[in-house]
Amino acid sequence: MLTTSWLTRDELADYLAASPLPLTLSPTPQDVATAVAEDLLTHRLPWPTLDWEAGRYPEGTRDRRLRSRRLVDDLGVDKLHDALDDVLLSVRALTIRQPWAGAVTHLGKRTENRSWRSGYRGLVLLHAAKEADTRLITQARQSDPDLPLHRQAVIATAKITGCHQARRTEQGGICCSPWGEPGLWHWEIKAVHPLARPVSCSGALNLWRPSADVLNAVLAVEEEGR
Ligand SMILES: [Zn+2]
Repeated sequence: MLTTSWLTRDELADYLAASPLPLTLSPTPQDVATAVAEDLLTHRLPWPTLDWEAGRYPEGTRDRRLRSRRLVDDLGVDKLHDALDDVLLSVRALTIRQPWAGAVTHLGKRTENRSWRSGYRGLVLLHAAKEADTRLITQARQSDPDLPLHRQAVIATAKITGCHQARRTEQGGICCSPWGEPGLWHWEIKAVHPLARPVSCSGALNLWRPSADVLNAVLAVEEEGR
């Protein structure tokens, strides 16, 4: 079981309002849950910190906020909690060796080089493997002594948005410079959000399903950081 029931009706509405989901198209609980899960895991969510009652709204946000509240009431908070649990339990995790996991999380590396193609699109927990490339870690430490390089832990959340084969550029280089490697599949990573602190757990090969305990721990860290 996941513990998303701490999200109140107003918080659900705020997450929904902050998401790019078109509210005019009568979204289903599943649509809303997907949007909320995305905001929950990949953003710091600026909206709930706005002074809603004092009437200080950025241009155009008031109507959207009212619509999102109405939508949450129409769909029902309990139903949305259930849908949110389902969506979060379908999130995958991706284990990456250090120092690459740290490069994705802290150095703007947005291409994961793999020998196989992935059709998965959506939210992922980025997990730093137990094993690491010690030679590269030494190099990374030399150029950035403060780079966090935790191991055997979830260190960030992100989205996988695409996957393409490495290709030559017109200039003779490789696409996705400087991180893309030739002859491999380039997984496109977006919306990387470092966790305030790592969540220790074992990893697995390729894309794997994190347990409810791991997801709850990640959600708890996110909740602390709000
Ligand atoms: Zn590429």
